[in-house]
Amino acid sequence: MCLFCDIAAGKIPSKIAYADDSVVAFHDIAPQAPVHLLVIPRKHIESAHALTEADEPLLGHMFAVARQLAEETGTAKSGYRLITNVGADAGQSVPHLHLHLLGGKQMKWEN
Ligand code: AMP
Repeated sequence: MCLFCDIAAGKIPSKIAYADDSVVAFHDIAPQAPVHLLVIPRKHIESAHALTEADEPLLGHMFAVARQLAEETGTAKSGYRLITNVGADAGQSVPHLHLHLLGGKQMKWEN
């Protein structure tokens, strides 16, 4: 059982921003910025650290979707951040690969 697999399958409701056969994007439930979207693969991959060469096209597609969403949200012009957390020290709380797309405010670099 995986929260983001269930969101991708529509079993758990979310505010979907984009969906196709391999990638889904939805609004983060606890937004850290005016724009805070999560871009996930439908395929269950635990984190960026679990990616293999076979996932390269999928990963490229996730970035293409993020790019499109940045255009649609206006953050392409103002700037945006793409983040993927890996493991406990990074604060990964959902063990299903996701890109955070954050924008709409001036961001600082914090640890
Ligand atoms: P991370 O901490 O990098 O693993 O990111 C997980 C993100 O998932 C957090 O920003 C959470 O706010 C978000 N999140 C958790 N549950 C949900 C949910 N049901 N719908 C949308 N976003 C969620």
